Amino acid sequence: MSHNSEFFHPELETLTRDQIHTLQTERLQKTVAHCMNSAFYRERFRQAGLKASDIRTLDDLRRIPFTTKQDLRDTYPFGLRSVGLEDCVRLHSSSGTTGNPTVILHSKRDLEQWAQAVARCLWMVGCRPDDVFQNSSGYGMFTGGLGFQYGAELLGMLTVPAAAGNTLRQIKFFTDFGTTVLHAIPSYAARIYEVMCEHGIDPRRDTKLRTLVIGAEPHSEDTRRRIEDMLGVKAYNSFGMSEMCGPGVAFECKEQNGMHIWEDYYIVEIVDPDTLEPVPDGEVGELVLTTINREAMPLLRYRTRDLTRILPGECPCGRHHLRLDRMKGRSDDMMILKGVNIFPIQIEQVLMQFKELASDYLITLDSRDNGDFMRVEVEMQNVNLDDYQSLKQLEKSIAQRLHDEILITPEVKLVPKNSLPKAEGKAVRVKDLRKQY
Ligand code: ADP
Ligand code: ZN
Repeated sequence: MSHNSEFFHPELETLTRDQIHTLQTERLQKTVAHCMNSAFYRERFRQAGLKASDIRTLDDLRRIPFTTKQDLRDTYPFGLRSVGLEDCVRLHSSSGTTGNPTVILHSKRDLEQWAQAVARCLWMVGCRPDDVFQNSSGYGMFTGGLGFQYGAELLGMLTVPAAAGNTLRQIKFFTDFGTTVLHAIPSYAARIYEVMCEHGIDPRRDTKLRTLVIGAEPHSEDTRRRIEDMLGVKAYNSFGMSEMCGPGVAFECKEQNGMHIWEDYYIVEIVDPDTLEPVPDGEVGELVLTTINREAMPLLRYRTRDLTRILPGECPCGRHHLRLDRMKGRSDDMMILKGVNIFPIQIEQVLMQFKELASDYLITLDSRDNGDFMRVEVEMQNVNLDDYQSLKQLEKSIAQRLHDEILITPEVKLVPKNSLPKAEGKAVRVKDLRKQY
């Protein structure tokens, strides 16, 4: 396959909707037949009174029962595979942000296809073999490490497996190796900038950073813009999860208007998490994915628990693969307070509009005499800490704006820069003390 200036896989990236449909139908039939090598799916199909040959069209997909994270746990570690262990060459496991870890197995072909997907994403945002790619993900079980490593190498970039942590060393690598592309989780990208400032390093003057790939945790549009301004880069949203390989599932193109999900790898459904029925076009629901390009451990109708929607319309970039909106969060992240459903990202959206506020915040839920209450602590920047009156005024206007968004007035507490706890990996934004009672 030959790459050209815009596309890494021109034939696949520019498929028309009809062509995507045909390819998906073929690959779905093949995948379902292959899944009958797995004891788990054989039993699932038997219970549902289904045969592999019943699944002929994309509409038939809906007859297949969902696969859940619990299924992965119940069959831990190797029970969901569709090939022999001798054909598996890699094992990854989710970082376990929510509950027990789960295991995903990969064959040689799976790893190759995964690297192809990641390379396609990176090429799409302008990465080329003369770039230097630095990866600040944790390596090991976390897929953001090796996933980006193999994709970036396949594209042909000089790839620096810096791994997580040791921010000063990361910064030294930027300047020593001439890093042009960085992969980081959003909270860490902001942290890197802070440490640069503390050491008098100006990213625009002292580094060649140009492109940032950010993902792995929900973040708002304002957070993205802030990080772009801080580091003087273009930042592209990257979505993935261990169960679907890892990074490379959906990625923004240069238009930065939603993440193309690669439909030659995945069939996308958005369902209502309660009724499990498809939501009307363009509405938010739970993302359900079927892998149609996997060998060792294909998953049928996997409930990701991530909430998002399909963006309407065509993308000017020439790719017809559907675009997902920014993730709203996981269904498990939803906070219920005084009967109101709230996602942390709604709070972030409001906070990041105040230029007096830095990027880190912590939401604490607790109960008091008259029911639930929420406290939002947020770090400040460029604020005169001695001016008590204006601090109180600022807290008040933040609380007011939050009320407009979430219909609850939280207690807002401004705290000095760097006083909130920092996580090594994904940022912890919510502390629910109510659960301890
Ligand atoms: P864990 O489930 O333990 O966090 P993963 O590393 O597999 O392990 O994380 C995948 C999850 O991370 C996704 O299901 C999603 O909730 C979140 N995620 C990944 N990329 C993004 C992104 N770009 N925006 C928002 N959330 C994301
Ligand atoms: Zn596009």
